[in-house]
Amino acid sequence: MYLYNSATHKKEEFQTHTPGRVEMYTCGPTVYHYAHIGNLRSYIMEDVLEKFLRYEGYDVNRVMNITDVGHLASDADTGEDKMLKGAKRENKSVMDIAKFYTDAFFDDCAKLNIKTPEVVQPATGLIDEFIRVVSGLIDKGYAYVAGGNVYFDTSRLDHYYVFNDHDEEDLAVGVREGVEEDQNKRNKNDFVLWFTKSKFEDQALKWDSPWGVGYPGWHIECSCISMKFNGEYLDLHCGGVDNAFPHHTNEIAQSEAYLGHPWCAQWFHVHHLNTNSGKMSKSKGEFLTVSLLEEKGYDPLAYRFFCLQSHYRKGLVFSWENLDNAAGAYNKLVKRIAALKGGDGEIDREAAARFKEKFLTQVGNDLNTSMGITCLYDVLKAPVNDVTKRAVLADFDQVLSLSLLEKAAQLREKEAAQAKTSGADGFTIQGEGDPAIDALVLQRAQAKKAKNFAEADRIRDELKAQGIEVTDVPGGAVWKRI
Ligand code: AMP
Ligand code: ZN
Repeated sequence: MYLYNSATHKKEEFQTHTPGRVEMYTCGPTVYHYAHIGNLRSYIMEDVLEKFLRYEGYDVNRVMNITDVGHLASDADTGEDKMLKGAKRENKSVMDIAKFYTDAFFDDCAKLNIKTPEVVQPATGLIDEFIRVVSGLIDKGYAYVAGGNVYFDTSRLDHYYVFNDHDEEDLAVGVREGVEEDQNKRNKNDFVLWFTKSKFEDQALKWDSPWGVGYPGWHIECSCISMKFNGEYLDLHCGGVDNAFPHHTNEIAQSEAYLGHPWCAQWFHVHHLNTNSGKMSKSKGEFLTVSLLEEKGYDPLAYRFFCLQSHYRKGLVFSWENLDNAAGAYNKLVKRIAALKGGDGEIDREAAARFKEKFLTQVGNDLNTSMGITCLYDVLKAPVNDVTKRAVLADFDQVLSLSLLEKAAQLREKEAAQAKTSGADGFTIQGEGDPAIDALVLQRAQAKKAKNFAEADRIRDELKAQGIEVTDVPGGAVWKRI
């Protein structure tokens, strides 16, 4: 496939260090609150990417961290620890908060058909490893101890701003955040690998280390977790675009300094879900969750469909109207699939191969998921039998994960349950499966059969008074609410 690589600023042919095998890493959630649907946009697009690579035949090893310590409010080295903030908000322990929101995250992922990665590693479970790598960085001369903390020395690098050519001033941490700069830092972009500073005395979780009791910085966790479970060469690193700086920039600095060779070849950044007041974010407090969408009657997969309709490298504007449009299109698509017949012959293998080739080219062009959806409509319109259509749609859905055939089967079952047969003569009533209404409709039919038209009309009026309209069809009647 061809994928835009934010490290080279180019669309490139996807390559792996070991042929046929993808080592893939995803920055996981900071579990101090529910994931919002913006975070989940990133995870949906990363999920499609993983599934597309598998569809192409790669064996994918996907690793994700769970940030349950060390992520400070500013994304850099200032502000309160987000986990502690969550624990205080809910008057619970940090570990309780972490467990609750980790479970909630994976529940949301399941509803959105996001596959769980092969490895999921909470940061607090790998502290010894972080200490080992930080010690290694000090030994190699890339890190120093100042004021009790351990810092990475960015002046040792030839190239620090790997993702952009911005003016350094624009990106200066601390200055940008409007907070005091840390006087212990030798260079303004140096960042903390291990904290012991008294400023964070109320930190809930602390571990012993060669530099004193403290806790790891946020960035080191991703480098260490990836190096442990993906090995020394990472093929693909994913995350939301807000993580490119400073988080991913610092990950590269640490990993390459530690390993002594280039680390990750391809960087995949998903752009933001925005509302009309800007980026959706947890820290702003006002954000939408999957549960809220469900409460409002939306199928979570309609949100997945909404995300797939647009390209991951463009900001996506959320509005209820936009979501309604996507939900309407998704339901219509399912309806069309439900109308396909079951056993109308053999699968046309040649046609199926042609469809597949087109899908691979289209989606393989920088993960163009909206073209992937167009491929679904192309199949539905094509002059091939329904068996072929169903097989091809099921095949594409291994990547898109919209549960298309399952939803279509559910719809057919619902419709079948609504169509019920009553009476010895096989009179069929189609409606919403309401026994009281069905009984009246049947009584009316029996009255008509007995030529008691006055009674039949009376029942019709009675139904009408209840907001029900009855239409006679061959062999039965259909009723609906008006
Ligand atoms: P966090 O839980 O804050 O560590 O973020 C989890 C993931 O969601 C990271 O990859 C972020 O870059 C990403 N993210 C945060 N906000 C948004 C947003 N509004 N739209 C898309 N992705 C986001
Ligand atoms: Zn990360």
